[in-house]
Amino acid sequence: MNEFARPRKALGQNFLEDQNIVRNIVTSLHLSADDVVLEIGPGRGALTELLIKQCRLLHLVEFDKDLIQYWQTRAAAEFEPEKLRVHGGDILDFDLSTVLSASDRPIKVIGNLPYNISSPVLFHLAQYAANIERQVVMLQKEVVDRLVSPPGSKQYGRLSVMMQQRYSIERQFNVSPKSFNPAPKVDSAVAAFTPLIPSVYELDNRADFAELVKQAFSMRRKTLRNNLKGLLDSSEIEELGIDPSVRAETLTVEDFVVLANRYSEIT
Ligand code: SAM
Repeated sequence: MNEFARPRKALGQNFLEDQNIVRNIVTSLHLSADDVVLEIGPGRGALTELLIKQCRLLHLVEFDKDLIQYWQTRAAAEFEPEKLRVHGGDILDFDLSTVLSASDRPIKVIGNLPYNISSPVLFHLAQYAANIERQVVMLQKEVVDRLVSPPGSKQYGRLSVMMQQRYSIERQFNVSPKSFNPAPKVDSAVAAFTPLIPSVYELDNRADFAELVKQAFSMRRKTLRNNLKGLLDSSEIEELGIDPSVRAETLTVEDFVVLANRYSEIT
């Protein structure tokens, strides 16, 4: 008899079944025995079983009530609290500083993410980037394409710039829908993030950067001059050595940082 309830589509429950992929994802996290790890959405434990064996302390954050209960029962019966801790709730509301403050060094994060909230999860984790030594996540392949794409490419946009300002991001491998049960409708890929510390792209004000990047890509076919109206005018853009008649997708991450720092200066 299957002890689990039916997979819940609304929670992005596509459970990984291919053991080679499981091993390759965990290997991508570069674990050592002393590591503190946070897993987002352990589900039925595809990654969890291997992670527990390879790290010092594993934190789980799961939203599904039945799965929270499953993990709480197992944690109480099989593991010391110094080995496995279960946090029930939405990862988007989860304050990672509770985990970080109890750890004497940066942690590692892993997750086969629910695809419907994958970008918000990445932005949530980015707030703690300096204290996350390495982060390995499975995402929709199309999202990984955007994360690793260079300036000038079709996939390069707001997500690429916002994430590449903080991290070095590498695609590890792509994953076919056949590796899951139930199979998702889209292809997947695994990406590894390491924070740029100290950031090679220093920002004066992060909120200004976020605002400027968002506005620069607001209308993809329009020029920088048009999209940045109200933030920087043509002459201010030109003074920075950037052509205001180009489209945002041709600018490097460094260009965006320079523009945002200038915007911060004059506001
Ligand atoms: N790690 C398992 C695996 O690889 O088979 C499950 C991955 S499944 C794609 C996503 C998991 O995230 C599910 O267990 C789901 O219940 C959980 N989840 C969905 N939304 C969540 C949220 N907002 N916060 C935390 N976990 C969530």
